[in-house]
Amino acid sequence: MLILKKEDYDRILKHCRDGLPNEACGLVAGRAEGETKTIEKAYLLTNVDESREHFSMDPREQFAAVKDARKNGLELLGNFHSHPESPSRPSEEDKRLAYDSTSEYLILSLMDEENPVLNAFHIDKDKNVCRNEIQIIE
Ligand SMILES: [Zn+2]
Repeated sequence: MLILKKEDYDRILKHCRDGLPNEACGLVAGRAEGETKTIEKAYLLTNVDESREHFSMDPREQFAAVKDARKNGLELLGNFHSHPESPSRPSEEDKRLAYDSTSEYLILSLMDEENPVLNAFHIDKDKNVCRNEIQIIE
């Protein structure tokens, strides 16, 4: 289970909408207790690819986010990116680039603009995909 505060969800959603028609991306940091991970902070990063189909995080922003998380005693839990035109599930490229089986891969689909869909996934070394439930709290 992954817990996400409504305000962070809203920030992620806005960042992804602002990034259209391209994919948007970022990092999430927080705390892990057993199976429950709580996102305490979402970092909204620049997709330097400026692409509709893939993303690369700005390395300097990524470095600053990791540093900030560490400073605040938070663990880097994973990342998020948007799918402007496809469903909320990892693409073949997403699977290929997923190298950390403990990481949360959040994908926000904006395919149906009125009904954004956010899911979190784990991707193991054999590229098996498993969905993790997200609970959005006020
Ligand atoms: Zn993707």
